[in-house]
Amino acid sequence: MAEHSSHKQNSPEQKHQQRMQKLKNKVDDRIASAQQEKGLLLIITGNGKGKSTSGFGTVLRAVGHGLTASVVQFIKGDWDCGERNILEKCGVDFTVMATGFTWDTQDKSADIAAAQKAWQASELLLKDESIDLVLLDELTYMIAYKYLDLDKVISTIKSRPAHQHVIITGRGCHRQLIALADTVSEVQSIKHAFDDGVKAQQGIDY
Ligand code: ATP
Ligand code: MG
Repeated sequence: MAEHSSHKQNSPEQKHQQRMQKLKNKVDDRIASAQQEKGLLLIITGNGKGKSTSGFGTVLRAVGHGLTASVVQFIKGDWDCGERNILEKCGVDFTVMATGFTWDTQDKSADIAAAQKAWQASELLLKDESIDLVLLDELTYMIAYKYLDLDKVISTIKSRPAHQHVIITGRGCHRQLIALADTVSEVQSIKHAFDDGVKAQQGIDY
């Protein structure tokens, strides 16, 4: 009799149920122990497509919950940014470094001045208690080109309001920023339409 019931207990459905219960207990334990609340530094880096869209998606998510957000875009001054057209209507301020692609302008000192101006706007946001989320889109390149001082960027991010979230996007993120971040994702490229000669598509690529 006992043998029969133990056999029954181990039916595939029950085995599955037991496994799932175990998993659920583990997840519940982890959720219960993750009690810390803090402003996060998130980095979306890598060569694949999806870094800026992820950043903007998070801004939308935050604004949807009534949080305040602000965006600073480094590099892409001349692009018609679809997200901007919507997010500005939702009270999200945009600061755009107005030089366009550096290989268009070929003027290094103008690029440095523009980068520093956009960084000054970022510094104000990173001191502003009333801003819950700051997106620093394509900031990584400004550090790679040495247009901005890494130590200054790090100390400003470190001393921001405790509740404030920051998202940095861009390829080749500096390892010191990665070390400082709470969450880092690397988007890997498997393939991209551009390699097949398809031009940037409105609504998908910008
Ligand atoms: P997105 O804004 O679409 O999320 P991204 O921020 O990950 O892209 P960026 O390096 O900022 O990528 O490039 C912006 C533009 O370059 C977009 O139009 C994007 O489609 C395109 N792009 C992104 N990754 C690649 C790639 N691997 N090859 C060619 N073009 C790319
Ligand atoms: Mg991008």
